[in-house]
Amino acid sequence: MSILITNGRIITASEDYVADIFIEGETISAIGKNLQQKADTKIDAKGKLVFPGGIDPHVHLDMPFMGTYSSDNYETGTLAALHGGTTMVIDFILQTQGKPLRHALEQWQGRSNGNCYGDYSFHMAVTDFNDSTKKEISEMVDKEGITSFKTFMAYKGALMIDDRQMVGLMNEVKKCGGMVTVHATNGDMIDFLIAKHRGEGKLSPLYHYLSQPEITEAEATGRFADMANYTGCPAYVVHMTCEGALNHIRDVEKRNQKVYAETCIQYLILDASLYEKDFEGAKWVMSPPLREKKDQATLWAGINQGTVQVVATDHCPFKWEQKKMGEKDFSKIPNGHPAIENRMELLFSEGVNKGKITLNKFVEVSSTNAAKIFGMFPKKGCVAVGSDADLVIFDPNEEHTLSAKTHHMNVDYSGYEGWEVTGKVKTVLLRGEIAIENNECKIGKGFGKFIKRNKVGTMI
Ligand SMILES: [Zn+2]
Repeated sequence: MSILITNGRIITASEDYVADIFIEGETISAIGKNLQQKADTKIDAKGKLVFPGGIDPHVHLDMPFMGTYSSDNYETGTLAALHGGTTMVIDFILQTQGKPLRHALEQWQGRSNGNCYGDYSFHMAVTDFNDSTKKEISEMVDKEGITSFKTFMAYKGALMIDDRQMVGLMNEVKKCGGMVTVHATNGDMIDFLIAKHRGEGKLSPLYHYLSQPEITEAEATGRFADMANYTGCPAYVVHMTCEGALNHIRDVEKRNQKVYAETCIQYLILDASLYEKDFEGAKWVMSPPLREKKDQATLWAGINQGTVQVVATDHCPFKWEQKKMGEKDFSKIPNGHPAIENRMELLFSEGVNKGKITLNKFVEVSSTNAAKIFGMFPKKGCVAVGSDADLVIFDPNEEHTLSAKTHHMNVDYSGYEGWEVTGKVKTVLLRGEIAIENNECKIGKGFGKFIKRNKVGTMI
């Protein structure tokens, strides 16, 4: 199979030019003006942008939670991602406390293997670090190609590790060539506030927000950065939402430390006023919660200053029926919102079109940086000879409206119902195959491959 894409405006993290792209098999084999290669399929991309397939390094598909599962499984979630221009996702395996990492890996493989449309990888969440877990770290890195290890500083009794475990894990991960990532919020402070609000009969979604004030995230982010500095372990903060947390990251640069930071599309464009909509606010109950306008301004600035490298989603949808588990108590609302399909178009429309970021920055934070940080560059995350032909052909002018009626995510509402967006994904290629064309999927379930990742070496 060969494909020739002609006259597209090619955008990478650093380039912007019009050229043809010739694809043979799974990879890009030539880029240039007026390419003469004979191709099985020709795509005219005149007037369109061509950029690397999006990489969303923070999603939760088919994730067990409170006796239920996040409503997008690997099939529906990766298909929705492709429709939105995201060709690869990284999901999270959650170790069960008291059980080995491998036990969790097998469970997650059982749900994902053969079911994905798009390419995927896993972060391993270490929820119980002890002598036997320690032995499994090198095996995950060297044998499984799972090179990033997620930690939780909140959710005591289920997911949280204490600082002693954190330091031990960082030492081991550093030794093995991996990276530690973190959900950085102070679990004990949050548990105190949840109990206080429940005790006072304050049970609406607004109190989810009020139980996780900015200081809970800022404190944990600073503590995590300090432990990473002490151990020398490569470190990455997931779903950063606020000024207080980002200021810690800005501060550590002064002592010559680098801590990577990811935010999510919702924290850039939605704010906490949505929690004042009575129970409808449950649609945006996620942790950390949405913040204030001043935090949005900080995060956009952080992207442009290079202190925030990645815009992900933390996609973790629950249907309305599932959200209603918390109708009488905010602490029982399943956390998470759907965005896997909307991330690229929203970031383009709200970021590039509104002059907040450049086109190159858009590519950098939606694809290239994730590929670099998580050990997949230059196979993924760029348009270059030898790279996987994961490409989005994008009409920057087409206007459309986001709605649950037209999205492909398996959830019966949209966090962005009625949003007017300029810019639309038209064609998506995944490893040299046309995966999406004019809203139709052209590949089958199981086309998506598990991608083994390299040790953390390609730093940005
Ligand atoms: Zn998450």
